[in-house]
Amino acid sequence: IKITDKIKALPKEAAYFSLEFFPPKTPAGLQNLHARLERMSKGLRPLFVNVTWGAGGSTASKTLELAHICLTVGLTTVLHLTCTNMSRAVLDDALDNAKLMGIRSILALRGDEPRQREYFGHQQQGVEGGSSNEFTHAVDLVRYIRQRHGDFFAIGVAAYPEGYTESAYPVEQSPALDLPYLREKTAAGADFIMTQFFYDVGAYLAFEKLLRDDPSGVFKTIPIIPGLMPIQSHQIFRRTTKLCSVKVPSEISDAIDAVKADDEAVKELGIRIVTDMIERIKATRETAGGLARGFHFYTLNLEKAVAFIVERCGLIPELPTTSFAAIAPIDEIAVM
Ligand code: FAD
Repeated sequence: IKITDKIKALPKEAAYFSLEFFPPKTPAGLQNLHARLERMSKGLRPLFVNVTWGAGGSTASKTLELAHICLTVGLTTVLHLTCTNMSRAVLDDALDNAKLMGIRSILALRGDEPRQREYFGHQQQGVEGGSSNEFTHAVDLVRYIRQRHGDFFAIGVAAYPEGYTESAYPVEQSPALDLPYLREKTAAGADFIMTQFFYDVGAYLAFEKLLRDDPSGVFKTIPIIPGLMPIQSHQIFRRTTKLCSVKVPSEISDAIDAVKADDEAVKELGIRIVTDMIERIKATRETAGGLARGFHFYTLNLEKAVAFIVERCGLIPELPTTSFAAIAPIDEIAVM
């Protein structure tokens, strides 16, 4: 099932969440993650999960293997794909395999230059066979998927509430500079938008408003899913925000620094910070494009912080209750 259909089927007043995972490097790591996914599938019930892709196709088989595991534990799965510095055969293979596995949603990305930046869990590298010049930006991948696979996949694209920056070549960062390209990606056939993580809720809400009010109208009703990174440790927090040029409001920065020597205190404060962010965003349902509000978590493959956050924010959906009226009378069951 496409994630966009799942979102549409939710009541408008509902809130939902998704979780992102990267393929572990070792079989033992994969085994641990498998068990964690089983627990999270049953206990947290995310609307869907995302599986990341190493730029250049560096994790192609591991990504597909993890996606398969997600599906087998009953999780609706979004496959990430990047398009630059990679042979077309790797891309075609991934899309064909996704289709065979029953994946109906893709996050179409550009990917970074090799070795320029590490996308969380994986070091990036190009693959033999080189890249075709066909793909320069994510929009090229959106068009390619639509051209080859029509409407089979729901396609998502990335957006940056504080503006995009290449960490290796910092330039002026502003969402307005990226807007024409985000418009182009959306008009080319994107069905949902997932954002870079942030800690400045004001900046996120201003970004969402910028999109909803855009005169082109392409962002009016598209799901825009804010990205959130639970704070796992002081070191990871500082490293990931620096790597992605994510601004940290001074009140959050000061509060985290004040407890940095105490890992448990950092975790607990981190849970409170992200919980507060969600509550503030949840209160703005009217800007959710008329749909249920979603939240996407960059889990870094960890379970605890995100479990506390979704629990405290009331994001875990109720288990479907069996309706007694729907159960056939005993005499009917007897003849079945
Ligand atoms: P694009 O949309 O191509 O944009 C990149 C930059 O180019 C922007 O500044 C944009 O304004 C500009 N631009 C776009 N089109 C044009 C144009 N026609 N002319 C001139 N400039 C243009 N990376 C991975 O390697 N694996 C992953 O699994 C992964 N998952 C991600 C998930 C999310 C939600 C996000 C936000 C990022 C993810 N990334 C991942 C990182 C992403 O691949 C990199 O940040 C990449 O450098 C940019 O990808 P993009 O799809 O945003 O690129």
